[in-house]
Amino acid sequence: MSKGRWTIKRITVKTRGRNDFVDITSLVAEEVEASNIQRGFCTLFVPHTTSGITINENTDPNVIRDIEVALERAVPWTGDYRHFEGNSAAHVKASLMGFSLQVPIADGRLCLGTWQGIYLCEFDGPRTRDVWIQLFAG
Ligand code: ZN
Repeated sequence: MSKGRWTIKRITVKTRGRNDFVDITSLVAEEVEASNIQRGFCTLFVPHTTSGITINENTDPNVIRDIEVALERAVPWTGDYRHFEGNSAAHVKASLMGFSLQVPIADGRLCLGTWQGIYLCEFDGPRTRDVWIQLFAG
């Protein structure tokens, strides 16, 4: 069993369209800074099946636009799908992005690369989504 300290928080994200990448970096950074954890790691978990989470560039917005276009090309909304809800493309894209991330915490801050941002990835919106943040000290 770990002797480390951990906390869990939940943030809520409103998405704006069927497909939407929402930059949640500052919301996550606020939780890390409020925790007073100096060193450890931050696990982010998306408890959904048609939205995911990823890290990518948050400087040139065309990077996210290009990812969205490439995903749409790779996994079109209509196709040879059997899932009764009719949103198979959203399930596939969510799995491609993944449902959790881990980011180091150093000097009390989220330790991301210069060009990196954290994105909640919506594929069947607009909806209200949850992101669970688990912070570990140690
Ligand atoms: Zn479904």
